[in-house]
Amino acid sequence: MKIAIDVDDVLADFSGAFIEFQKKKYNLDLEPIKNLLYGSEWMDRSNLSREEGIRRIMEFVESDKTKNLETVEGSQPAVEKLGEKFKLVALTGRPASVADVTKKWLEEKFFGVFSDLLITDAHIFHEGKKDKGELCIENGIKLLIDDLPRYCLECASVDVSSFLFDQPHNQHFDEQEYSEITRVNSWEDVIQKLI
Ligand SMILES: [Mg+2]
Repeated sequence: MKIAIDVDDVLADFSGAFIEFQKKKYNLDLEPIKNLLYGSEWMDRSNLSREEGIRRIMEFVESDKTKNLETVEGSQPAVEKLGEKFKLVALTGRPASVADVTKKWLEEKFFGVFSDLLITDAHIFHEGKKDKGELCIENGIKLLIDDLPRYCLECASVDVSSFLFDQPHNQHFDEQEYSEITRVNSWEDVIQKLI
């Protein structure tokens, strides 16, 4: 079976590093509203225009910080274990401009377990881009592990199963309405469900 694993906030601690960056550079404390980080609500709450919010995301994504992200707790041993049994690819909505950085980071942290890196380039601007469901179908992927309900729903719409990786920003989503989506609480939980 071929499994796709999302990068940010599943393998890489993107939110943690983004929060730290905003605090250091702009003295903006996003910790109390970290459940709102995906979408534009954190921008509204921080009195930032959408334009400025997006500029700050891109500034962070294209900075050296992305090269040095920490891994999500438990991800390294779990992915290594999954790699022994399944074919693994990384699937991210990151911009195409950081494809090489992402590839290098995955190789450094996950030692070549991923046979491929698929990029939708649709993290912020999705118009005209392929979604994760389409990429799963095209690449014969049977399961997506992702922290964003939006991507799990894209997969559900084309009958591809997904694990929604529990994070503060997906607590509002009720996956129980969807038979294709299963919430997982940690990497240990993923291993228990698959091995
Ligand atoms: Mg993610």
